[in-house]
Amino acid sequence: MNNLAINSITPYTLEAYSGIPSAIVWFSTCNLKCQICDNPSLLKKKGTMKISEVISYLKTQQEKLKGIVLSGGEATISRQVIMLCNGIKELGFLVKLETNGTNPKVLQYLIDKKLINYVSLDFKANQENYVKITGSKKSFYLNTLKSFKLLNRSKIDFEVKTTLHGNLLHNKELLEIIKLFTKLKYQGHYYIQALDGVNVELDKEELIAEGKKSNIIVAFKNI
Ligand code: SF4
Repeated sequence: MNNLAINSITPYTLEAYSGIPSAIVWFSTCNLKCQICDNPSLLKKKGTMKISEVISYLKTQQEKLKGIVLSGGEATISRQVIMLCNGIKELGFLVKLETNGTNPKVLQYLIDKKLINYVSLDFKANQENYVKITGSKKSFYLNTLKSFKLLNRSKIDFEVKTTLHGNLLHNKELLEIIKLFTKLKYQGHYYIQALDGVNVELDKEELIAEGKKSNIIVAFKNI
């Protein structure tokens, strides 16, 4: 059995964590099967690195880096994420977690123990389309909602994003998501993004205007 959760490390980027010089630690595998996945190759790959190897490497990068981004795949499905965050924090780095939100318990633990500084929550879809889009089950939508609520209650900095899935997410569904965030009193950024090669026409003004009603800043990437 392969117990290694980490697939690889991107040694340096200014793109992934608000301009902070960072490395990205890529987790293998995911508990969702999204129709459009930003990292499909990682889903099939097995981990290749021990946590101790990752930490030893990052120790050599302390002068160059300020942040570490945990991405994947899905980091929170591995218990190793806690061990990794402990090690990273001991080295004094900021930590950004990119997550699909399906493990609110792990997320809560990481926040409570101050093991992460920033969260990017991938809110995959409105309730009706969640199962279709993620190839998973309804309980995962409810878990993601729990994650959203706990982030919103906590003092941690976070953002929410949705990746467009061609004919399944249009203005109607995105408006529904924004209205849900409004009902839950969210005030912050909501990014709507398209992956390369996915063409979707949106009425951006309508979405921006809906967000403005309650201080949700709707922004677009690659659209
Ligand atoms: S949650 Fe992310 S990594 Fe997992 S299948 Fe969906 S897009 Fe891919």
